Amino acid sequence: MTESIREPADAARRRGAKPVIVYAVDRLPRFDASAYEAARATLTRVSELLVPPREARTFRVPAGSFFRIVSVEGAQVGDLNLWNAADLGERFFSGKTRALHATHVSTGDRLWSTLPSLRPLATITHDTLAWYGWDADGAGVHDVIGTRCDPYTNLLLKGEEYHRCCHSNLARALAAELGVPAREAELHVHDVMNVFMCTDYTRDTHQYFMKASPVRPGDFIEFLAEIDLLCALSACPGGDCGATHSDDAARCHPLKVEILRPAPGALAGWRSPAPSSYSRTHGMG
Ligand SMILES: [Zn+2]
Repeated sequence: MTESIREPADAARRRGAKPVIVYAVDRLPRFDASAYEAARATLTRVSELLVPPREARTFRVPAGSFFRIVSVEGAQVGDLNLWNAADLGERFFSGKTRALHATHVSTGDRLWSTLPSLRPLATITHDTLAWYGWDADGAGVHDVIGTRCDPYTNLLLKGEEYHRCCHSNLARALAAELGVPAREAELHVHDVMNVFMCTDYTRDTHQYFMKASPVRPGDFIEFLAEIDLLCALSACPGGDCGATHSDDAARCHPLKVEILRPAPGALAGWRSPAPSSYSRTHGMG
């Protein structure tokens, strides 16, 4: 602290203000676990794909279908982007998702979309790492506090170009999907859900840290697509993110994506959510 900035006499009292949870999450649409479980019991696999290490792939999931991201071969972190398949302007909103749920997400949490739609793009319906909780370092799994490793930050910090960061992997995969150049596709790439990634902020300096993912082959996280989705998943060059990222040093593994369909009528009572009904007048009449 600089000499000129001194604590006020009532500093302790000011710091002692009571924390208040920002959002009244009890008013969110309820997660009806038994309804989802009933639908899950009828799932049949429609298709699957393998995301190679240090690459990304796109996939589409119709509203009312499920998808799983499955660990195969070894511990590996995945960077997930989600878009409304009919309008890429509506995409995953990492910041509001963490504000509504938590720094890390699991079964029952929703992945919310950007304004002005603000609706669930996907709901997490199963997570074999749900046992992990919060560890002694304060870390959890399935991070929505990170962004995605990218070549711009890498150039800034290391002074060299690396083309296999998740941002670039996602940009290449989306470019192939849309038939546009990577530099155009990258404008749609956004802050990810870091699937299987174990992170938090340090207690002393509040800096972002990562530690080796507890994921093991066979683990998976499962989502219900709440609207028609275009998805992209990158198998991060950090591997299990236990040491480095944004280089070729880490041992990396593929990730499997499975798309599954419930039996007709198994999701009775479920409706694809509409965009927010806010008037969008912003007080201007
Ligand atoms: Zn990455």
